[in-house]
Amino acid sequence: MIDYKKRKKIPILLYVLLIAIMFIVGFRLVVNTGASTVEMVPASSAKRTEPYQTLPAMPNHQGTFRIVIDPGHGGKDPGATGVSGAYEKAFNLSLAGRIAALLEEDPMFEPLLTRTDDRFIELEERAAIANDWNADAMISIHGNTYTDPMTSGTETLYRHEDSIPLAQTLQEHLVKAIDLRDRGVKEEQLKVLSTPTMPAVLIEAGYLTNAEDERLLLSVEGQELAAQAIVEGLKDYFTGSERLSYELQAKGDADKPPGPPRSGTGYPSMEKKVYFNGSAKDGKQVALTFDDGPDAVVTPQILDILKEHHIKATFFILGDRAERHPETVRRIAEEGHAIGNHSWSHPNFKELTMEEATKQITDTQEELNDIIGYRPSLFRPPYGAMDAEKEKAIQNMDLAIVNWSVDTMDWSGVSAQEIMTIIDTQLKPGGIILQHTANGKNQLANTLEALELFIPDLKDQGYSFVTVPDLLHLPESQPE
Ligand SMILES: [Zn+2]
Repeated sequence: MIDYKKRKKIPILLYVLLIAIMFIVGFRLVVNTGASTVEMVPASSAKRTEPYQTLPAMPNHQGTFRIVIDPGHGGKDPGATGVSGAYEKAFNLSLAGRIAALLEEDPMFEPLLTRTDDRFIELEERAAIANDWNADAMISIHGNTYTDPMTSGTETLYRHEDSIPLAQTLQEHLVKAIDLRDRGVKEEQLKVLSTPTMPAVLIEAGYLTNAEDERLLLSVEGQELAAQAIVEGLKDYFTGSERLSYELQAKGDADKPPGPPRSGTGYPSMEKKVYFNGSAKDGKQVALTFDDGPDAVVTPQILDILKEHHIKATFFILGDRAERHPETVRRIAEEGHAIGNHSWSHPNFKELTMEEATKQITDTQEELNDIIGYRPSLFRPPYGAMDAEKEKAIQNMDLAIVNWSVDTMDWSGVSAQEIMTIIDTQLKPGGIILQHTANGKNQLANTLEALELFIPDLKDQGYSFVTVPDLLHLPESQPE
């Protein structure tokens, strides 16, 4: 029942170290800092490291977004050959390395390269690396080729609909930065994009068969611009993707003012994405969330603290616990907090059949409707674990999938001081903080203590506490 069972602290450090070493080795080899062009990678020069197989499946986020950068082609597969005779595989590796280096410096992100040297990797394996690592986004880097040397420009490809916002954001930033012809965002039945369970796109940065495109793409300056643009695009996507989707909607419908798409029968903003945070553009807002309750001991104490500080939070409730503690569920609703569905009995949704998953959710919706008179519009998967097929099905049930951006690890018994430090380092405006109301060590005394400390602290920093529906501009309940 406890969230994040699979997490093990020491192995993670080892993996991080391994990735860092692998990255430094790989990156040094590809980048030529002296000249203005990028050197090809000698096939035999890079040490063969295979870190991917050792990465554990971790269905959680530690407040950072995990980005898999996939340099296309490699080894026996050179990809396109440019006007100058340069191979696409080397360009891909070099640009990917620069993107990863920039992401590495940003506390918001954690990058992983599918290859750091000149080797061949199957397309399925590239996707599997991203899936196994539970990445938040996957970006495959390519250079384009065509028989007509006049053909030029940048395009971003996607395969699944839920990748469109990411594709649009990256394309927009990239075209603005490197200023090649905007060929737009296109759907393409690409193998490498077919199995990732997170938003995944393939960037064709430009045409290596076009002399002008190639000159820019092989220059250090061009690659730095492109890498910065992609990182900026990712930041925009993960902090302001909601805003962008409104803008795109507004572009498509000139009569409609831009704003949260709440009108109409469906919830257009719910259908395309999994939420990890709100938009920083809405100011210094934060949403506290409490999972796995209710119970008769901890939840009432949390409600007392929230009342004392006059703040509203969001409770992701288990159906079987709601059935046992209906009075606590009623109190949560009566005191103005938002309620979300956290499944009936806290299973790992990746291991359920579609039928079992649906039943977990609908049973809880009905139980909550019986107690509070409405069905919540929010669903949070236990452990944050989800696959693409179920994700789509749940979104089609008019439920918004909401995870978190700050994981306090409170269930594990970390001290209140440690919780404070985690919040201090990971919280950004629009953040969603994960805590628990049950299933923790020592009756979650650390959670209670931390709340008393960080609520006034965040207030002092100018944060306002909002519910998840308010933060994400979502309705609190489903339509009747
Ligand atoms: Zn949980």
